[in-house]
Amino acid sequence: MRSSRLIEVENIEVLKLFEDVSEEARKEKLAVPPINKLLYWWTRKPVSVARTLTLLSTIPTPLGENGEADSEKIKKLITEVRELIGLNPNERAYRRDPKVERYQKLLDFDPSGIFVMDPFAGQGNLMFSALEYGLRVYAMDYNPVAYVLMKSILEYPKKYPQLAEDVEKYGKELIERTEKELGRFYKREGREALDYIWCWCIRCPYCGQRIPLTNQMWLDKNEKIGYWFRFRNGGFEVEIRQLSNEEGDKFTQKEGYAVCEKSFGGCGNTISYEHMTRDIAQRRDKELIAVVVRNKRGKDFELPSEEDRRNFEEAAKYLKENWDSFLEEDLIPTE
Ligand SMILES: [Zn+2]
Repeated sequence: MRSSRLIEVENIEVLKLFEDVSEEARKEKLAVPPINKLLYWWTRKPVSVARTLTLLSTIPTPLGENGEADSEKIKKLITEVRELIGLNPNERAYRRDPKVERYQKLLDFDPSGIFVMDPFAGQGNLMFSALEYGLRVYAMDYNPVAYVLMKSILEYPKKYPQLAEDVEKYGKELIERTEKELGRFYKREGREALDYIWCWCIRCPYCGQRIPLTNQMWLDKNEKIGYWFRFRNGGFEVEIRQLSNEEGDKFTQKEGYAVCEKSFGGCGNTISYEHMTRDIAQRRDKELIAVVVRNKRGKDFELPSEEDRRNFEEAAKYLKENWDSFLEEDLIPTE
């Protein structure tokens, strides 16, 4: 019969260990171990928790002469387990060597003979630790993103030791080729563009005003910078400036309806969801409102220039001309 494992015993030292590992897991989350940087994964298990689970589920419970769990021996063993996990107030456990040899001495079996299966492995952190300690691991996940991340953590580093260099090399090549083919659509005088902000536009069915649709006016709420519209002769002009809180919270579209906002010079009427969506679907009228540009602090905002609009027209033309060949090469998702 299989003997009991540490995780199964009711013992105060084991409970204290769980409490300390919870605290370590909280600190680990803030310290961000390298494998977490692959992608933000919301249900990721901390490395310290994975290590604890592997150790406690495999190390046998020490028994006394009467065949019962021996609390003195357990206490001593848990001290050793703490060492293996790497619990230390000054250094994060995930940085510590897992001390595989010391672990294997505590076992009453060959770890490579133990199969561990995680059918919902996600990114694979729990199995990462089991693999590290020499157990045989089966991990799977239905989500393709999780699956690729899992492969990158559990399998590829061992299988392809050159992987990091290759990713860097081909990443650079991809950037160079993209720059060569598409860079001209982003060239502009002055500061580099990081992003372009567009609004769908509809016609007010009451006064004929062209209304850019936005659910708030903020570009940077912390800095209190936003855009402001002035309706003129049925068209509109855009300003980028400091806004008051009241101005920043204005909108022309929210919660399923649009409004021909009086503060911008509109007629003040409310426009129904049906009219708004039909107008967008039929006319597909849109306007470039602002360009997010790079500056020393990070980002700033500019009104679009003639050059920005021309670049967009050129890019649209390029896409139209190449649409069929892009489709043929399967570069455009059509589902
Ligand atoms: Zn109106």
